[in-house]
Amino acid sequence: MLSSVLVTGATGFIASRIIERLLARGHRVRGTVRSPKKPGDIDRLRELTGARERLDLVESDLILPASFDAAAVGCDVVMHTASPYAIDVSDARGELVDPAVNGTREVLAAASRAGSVRRVVLTSSMAAVTDEPDDRVLTEADWNTKSSLDRNPYYYAKTMAERAAWAFMEESKPPFDLVAINPFMVIGPSVTASLNTSNRLLLIDLLKGTYPGILSLTWGIVDVRDVAEAHVRAMEVADAHGRYLCVGEAMSMRQVVTLLKSSGYGGHKLPALSLDSGIATAIIKLAAVTQQKGTGSYLRSHLGRVPRYDTTKIRTELGVTFRPGAETILDTVRDLQRWGHLGN
Ligand code: NDP
Repeated sequence: MLSSVLVTGATGFIASRIIERLLARGHRVRGTVRSPKKPGDIDRLRELTGARERLDLVESDLILPASFDAAAVGCDVVMHTASPYAIDVSDARGELVDPAVNGTREVLAAASRAGSVRRVVLTSSMAAVTDEPDDRVLTEADWNTKSSLDRNPYYYAKTMAERAAWAFMEESKPPFDLVAINPFMVIGPSVTASLNTSNRLLLIDLLKGTYPGILSLTWGIVDVRDVAEAHVRAMEVADAHGRYLCVGEAMSMRQVVTLLKSSGYGGHKLPALSLDSGIATAIIKLAAVTQQKGTGSYLRSHLGRVPRYDTTKIRTELGVTFRPGAETILDTVRDLQRWGHLGN
C-alpha cells in the first residue's frame, strides 16, 4: 500500500536517505525544513528520483508551537527524525533538550490533530538506551538513566524525547501507534553536502589527526542506508511495535585505523600512538576535564567500554540486515572525498 509520509528534518543525514528510499518505493513524501537556509541540500533532495512528482517541502521548526500542524494534514505516516545533534553546546536545555522534547510533543500533537495518521516512526537513539555501555548485552528493555544536563546532554535530550513520546501515547491515546528506531553510531554516504556529526566524529577526526593517538573507544556502527531501510520497514510492517535497536558491527578505533591504513588511506593523519592500554585509558579519562564539557563527559563514559547488544528484534520482526562495518566505513570515506570534506 502506498502512503503519504511526513518526514521531519528533511535535509538531515538520516532523513534524506529515508526520503530517497520512500520515493524509490513509490510513496508520496512531505518533508519539513527549518528554513530554506541550506539551499544546496534542498536542491539535492529535489534531484532525487521521483522527487519532482512526489516530494514537497514545507517549513516547520521544533521550537515553534503548532509548527507541524499544516505539514501533517493528509499524511498517514509521520517519521520524526528532526532533532539537534551536537556533543558540545553552551546551553544544553535551550539547544538540545527543549527542541528535542517539546518538538517531539509538537509533532505527535500535530499527527493527532491531523486525524489521518496511522503510525509515527520516531528516530530515537542508542543514547536513549545507555549512557555508558557496560558488560551487559543491551536490549530494547534498557533505558538510559544516567545522563543529565551536565553529563552527556545530547544523550539526555534523546532519552527525554523518547520518554515524552511514549508518555504522550499513554496519556493522549491518539489514533495512531508509535514505533521507535534506536540507531547507534550512524555513518555512511550522504545524499547532501553537509557533513554529519557522526561522520565527522568517526572518520574526519580520525583522518585529519584530531585524535592524539589510538584511543580505547569502540563504536556500534550502523550504515545510514540500513537505518533508512529500518525506518521504511517500521512503517510498512503492520505488526511493528515498540523500540528497535538498530546497529550492525561494533568496531574499535584500532580496527578502524587498521582498516583505513590497509585500504590506501595511510597518507592521511591517522593516529599512530597506542593510547588504548588500561593505563593510558585511565590517564586520558582524568585529562578529559581539559576538553570541552560535552566531549569530556563522552570520553569519561565511553573510554575502555565495548558496547554489546542484541539485535534479534529488528532482524526478525522487520527483516533488516546490516552491512559489514568495513564496507560502510570505506563507502563513507569515498563519499567524504567526493564531497570534498577530506581536502586534497
Ligand atoms: P542531522 O544533523 O543531519 O539532522 C538533524 C535534522 O534535524 C536536520 O534536518 C536539522 O535541520 C533538524 N533540526 C534540528 N533542530 C531543528 C529545529 N529546531 N527545528 C526543525 N528542525 C531541526 O542529524 P542526523 O541525520 O544524524 O540525525 C537525525 C536523527 O537521528 C536525530 O533525531 C538524531 O538524534 C538521530 N540519531 C542520529 C545518530 C547518528 O549517529 N547520526 C544516531 C542515533 C540517532 P537543519 O538542517 O535546519 O539543521
